[in-house]
Amino acid sequence: LLAAHAQRGDPLPARSTETSMRNVTDRKSVLVAGGAGFLGSHLCDRLLADGHHVVCLDNLQTGDLANLEQAMKKPNFEFVRHDVVDPLPVRLAERRFDRVYDLACAASPPQYQADPEHTMLTCVVGVTHLLQLAQRSGARFLLTSTSEIYGDPEVHPQPETYRGNVNPIGPRACYDEGKRAAETLTFDYDRAGRGEVRVARIFNTYGPRLSAADGRVVSNVVSQALADQPITVFGDGSQTRSFCYVDDMIGGLIALMEHDGPQPGPINLGNPVEMTVSRLVEVVLDLTGSSSEVTYQTLPIDDPRRRRPDIARAAEVLDWRPTTPLEEGLRRTIDWFDGERLRSERDAAA
Ligand code: NAD
Ligand code: UDP
Repeated sequence: LLAAHAQRGDPLPARSTETSMRNVTDRKSVLVAGGAGFLGSHLCDRLLADGHHVVCLDNLQTGDLANLEQAMKKPNFEFVRHDVVDPLPVRLAERRFDRVYDLACAASPPQYQADPEHTMLTCVVGVTHLLQLAQRSGARFLLTSTSEIYGDPEVHPQPETYRGNVNPIGPRACYDEGKRAAETLTFDYDRAGRGEVRVARIFNTYGPRLSAADGRVVSNVVSQALADQPITVFGDGSQTRSFCYVDDMIGGLIALMEHDGPQPGPINLGNPVEMTVSRLVEVVLDLTGSSSEVTYQTLPIDDPRRRRPDIARAAEVLDWRPTTPLEEGLRRTIDWFDGERLRSERDAAA
């Protein structure tokens, strides 16, 4: 029934007037665009647990209703299937929201490159629709931007003041330049006094509900290791990334949205512990006890050589820092992937 509603794009109704919410005095009405995805679904769960009313808007391009299994059971949750590139449905555009989170955009390189024009439109036209909604509602707006706006960085680690090194005509540009334009639009709204905005520059984040098929390094390596299949390292594995556990990231996004001071500018959110892709593979092989062999494939075009957030601003303005060590976060992620694998094997056998 829920899926049928979702297919038609109807808001899914609250299931009961009784709520299991905590008794909050500050109950807000929150729109989460992209709420069926990896980060968005965790954000919905956290906001629901905090007693807020959450409307999730998603076209299910890379998201999955299965991520919302827990949320769907809550009376203070609604799902609307919609593509943010299209004008918002009237019934939604006329509603009042206190907060609008924009997470609607594929984040994995193979997925955002699959339809680059749609990715660019999602970043530019989609963000405009959501900014307009926030302005009409008087809602505070948060854009999830990305470390990708720094491109292949020449400054290391990357502070928010660094303007980046992006190839505007390469295969990653639909996303990198799209997000740069989304930031521009968001800060233009702020400058014009059209709304209160926040911009999070998210660095590589991992955890349960990453889609096994999304092509990102943690999802690929963990699923390959669990299935004892060859591990695919792109290039020689010496490129670096800094991996943040999802619970830490969600805490950072909410802290930024709820920051009441003057406009803080863009804020890097990520874990500054940097490692090579080869090291990540070693840790996953060790934690899974896998016998997978490591194979080497061509490095994708414009793949950044290194990436590590300078999070001094997040620490100072939000008093936020990640606390989950990589091994602990990976253990939880591996357990979740293993559970999903067993579940799909059981379903296939049934
Ligand atoms: P994801 O692909 O799991 O989630 C994106 C969600 O947005 C999906 O549910 C998808 O169906 C939905 N979506 C995509 N295009 C849409 C459209 N046009 N209209 C409506 N819904 C649409 O990705 P994620 O990792 O959860 O990323 C969420 C946000 O965080 C994205 O904006 C991404 O750019 C940003 N981000 C994530 C990371 C990361 O490491 N996870 C890093 C940097 C930035
Ligand atoms: N990568 C890899 N094997 C894979 C997937 C990715 O070696 O199966 C590499 C990729 O080339 C990049 C790093 O891992 O250098 C992180 O890739 P991901 O797609 O997760 O994120 P992003 O490139 O956006 O940081």
